[in-house]
Amino acid sequence: MKQSHLFTRTRREAPADEVAKNAQLLVRAGYIHKEMAGVYSYLPLGLRTLNNIIRIIREEMNAIGGQEIVMTALQDKALWERTDRWDDAKVDNWFKTKLAVGGDTGLAITHEEPLTRIMAAHISSYRDLPAMVYQFQNKFRNELRAKSGVMRGKEFMMKDLYSFAKSSEEHEAQYAATRAAYIKVFKRFGLAKRTYPTFASGGVFADFSEEFQTVSEAGEDTIYVDEEKHVAVNKEVLTDEALAKLGLDRARLVEKKAIESGNIFHLGTRFSEALGLAFTAEDGTKKPVIMGSYGIGVTRMVGILTEVFADEKGLVWPAEVAPFAMHIVSLGKKGDEISKTADALYEDLVKAGVEVLYDDRELRAGEKFADSDLLGIPRRIVVGKDAVATGDFEVVERVTGEVAKIPRAELFS
Ligand code: ATP
Ligand code: MG
Repeated sequence: MKQSHLFTRTRREAPADEVAKNAQLLVRAGYIHKEMAGVYSYLPLGLRTLNNIIRIIREEMNAIGGQEIVMTALQDKALWERTDRWDDAKVDNWFKTKLAVGGDTGLAITHEEPLTRIMAAHISSYRDLPAMVYQFQNKFRNELRAKSGVMRGKEFMMKDLYSFAKSSEEHEAQYAATRAAYIKVFKRFGLAKRTYPTFASGGVFADFSEEFQTVSEAGEDTIYVDEEKHVAVNKEVLTDEALAKLGLDRARLVEKKAIESGNIFHLGTRFSEALGLAFTAEDGTKKPVIMGSYGIGVTRMVGILTEVFADEKGLVWPAEVAPFAMHIVSLGKKGDEISKTADALYEDLVKAGVEVLYDDRELRAGEKFADSDLLGIPRRIVVGKDAVATGDFEVVERVTGEVAKIPRAELFS
């Protein structure tokens, strides 16, 4: 993509009404637009980044047998009344509205209820199980706090996967597979080291649920980390009794601020029993399906990666997530040799299937470099007089700031 065609502009100043580092930088770089507190739109560079995050998660969910669907955001009040999660006294963050034909609807805060009902229409025998189903979909929650930028939206994208099993052994295997897939996902985001499986409250049929907590000063949660075992305990459940159960030693735990990237839950038969999701077992008896649910905050991940990797110059993206792999910065003027060299390099890289952003604008070099730093694309290729004369290009690695002269052919490998 040519930067002269990109409609978004960078800004030097952070928006005054935004306190979170992630939102400040993402707005400055033109990745997102703030509609109102906790509500954001994704612009071309932000959408490319978001799509890369989605692709990585999708690949790992497919690899464990997840089947992708998309459910509607509009929810049926009667369904949620059956699990007692409609009443504002029980769940206080619904966006609800009236239907013109009479009655109420609400925008989905999560999707256990509708998916359990969908599965009930398709699952009737032990032969239909196990199954794992997931989606990428926007959730709506009338959140009170809005100081964390895209990490806490009133509308946000979640990847939610749900597992359906005929026995607790089968459920445990699904849980373990999903847990392992999450670890792969965070590794691909470059977050493996600082993301801890963390014991937390909230399991319906287990003592604990597990959150994936990414250590960051911007985090809203406090966790206690056992570095050696690479696990943590959320402050919410930090009691001597819990530590004993988990086999953790309080003296070895270190307090950290962290942000919840994802979480995994044993749901047991809470939803299947309430909503009639049952199967006929091999022995002919009817049994409720055993379920699990597994979330990852997809738009939150854009914020987490910004909080964790950005530096004083701007955004810094891990290779698999970056909106483009390379950023060509031409120092030429229209029609001169430098521009022609840059144009040809751009065309050839695109032909070779490399994702390139090409800064073909006629601006001062300093301005272009500052923009390039702000956008955070992993490799910057500078095209100036030297490149024309020698055929070698100056390449700057965004993460390390390392500069190298690289022959043209090597830019394609
Ligand atoms: P939190 O404690 O941060 O409010 P939660 O316990 O409400 O999270 P879930 O309902 O389990 O989270 O949602 C699954 C995932 O969706 C979370 O792990 C998080 O990454 C993401 N998420 C939850 N709420 C938001 C939000 N308001 N904005 C962006 N992402 C969110
Ligand atoms: Mg919440």
